[in-house]
Amino acid sequence: MNIDFILPWHQPAWQHLVQRWQKGQLAHALLLSGAAGLGKLHLARNFARWLLCSQNHNPAAVRDDSEPCGRCQGCLLMKAGSHPDFLEVLPETDGKQIPIDSIRDVSSYLSLKSQFAPLQVVVIAPAEAMNKYAANSLLKTLEEPTPGTLLILVTSQLSRLLPTIRSRCQTMEFAPPERSVALRWLAAHLKNIAGVSEADMARLLVLTGDAPLAALEYAQQNALKSYDQLLASLEKLARNQADPVTEAKLWESVGLSESVKWMYLWITAMIRLKSGMGEVDNQSEWREPVLERLAPGLDNRSLFQYLDQLTGSARLVNSQVNIQLTLEDLLINWQKLHRRTIKSD
Ligand SMILES: [Zn+2]
Repeated sequence: MNIDFILPWHQPAWQHLVQRWQKGQLAHALLLSGAAGLGKLHLARNFARWLLCSQNHNPAAVRDDSEPCGRCQGCLLMKAGSHPDFLEVLPETDGKQIPIDSIRDVSSYLSLKSQFAPLQVVVIAPAEAMNKYAANSLLKTLEEPTPGTLLILVTSQLSRLLPTIRSRCQTMEFAPPERSVALRWLAAHLKNIAGVSEADMARLLVLTGDAPLAALEYAQQNALKSYDQLLASLEKLARNQADPVTEAKLWESVGLSESVKWMYLWITAMIRLKSGMGEVDNQSEWREPVLERLAPGLDNRSLFQYLDQLTGSARLVNSQVNIQLTLEDLLINWQKLHRRTIKSD
């Protein structure tokens, strides 16, 4: 699927970067920080493509910030994935660490001269995937920047980066776009996927904290189907019409990460419903009838205690934990929570 060269909610950040380049004031290291699914890596890559297009090589001569020409040597090499002045450092697979060797490669790469462009660009994403040895190695590179180099670090977990790394980069914060902007963008990109209603789009955005690219990915994976299945399971368990151990298999098929994340969203939504905040989410009028039916039977104290358990489970997501047991435990406690509340009423 084609994604806009500059995403609508990135316009201010884009302008900022281009102006810095025009004035010769681009920092040697940038840190793009914000929630996952906002397109930060997309921006980093496209800014690299833009800088390496021969049209933009001379900052003082840059007239506009339009897309790279697509025809010059720089553009063709970028398209082929073989531009010698561009290096991208990613984990081998999602969720894996970036090892020290990859960062050593960055320093030796930066010690070479650029070949076509006036600068070398290195993108590291996600930066929090660097293990501590890799991070310490990068620190040395940041402390002694080589002229004519640009490092772009991308992170969705700023707190996991060394403070010393953070302080040596110019940080650019990315916030989710307004719901209306995200909805418009999502609608335009979902028009080829049948059966996604406007209400579904709002749900996708609520689920992803208004991160449009994450919402798009969810839609492509038909995630709302799993979402509805888990929500129905939640209700059956609350009504004692299902067995937590059996139900845990369904949750496991969706995955621990999603299960915990969605459950967290639903529990906080019920707390807000109980606090008399009306609609679960005012901005989109997001409503979940299941939650509206379940919330009155629960008390806030139990819901808050359950949130604590969910927070604990969220920490286990990328560990070696037994997923089935973790989910069984969560569902057994969810069922108990309901029984306890009913008893105390
Ligand atoms: Zn070009």
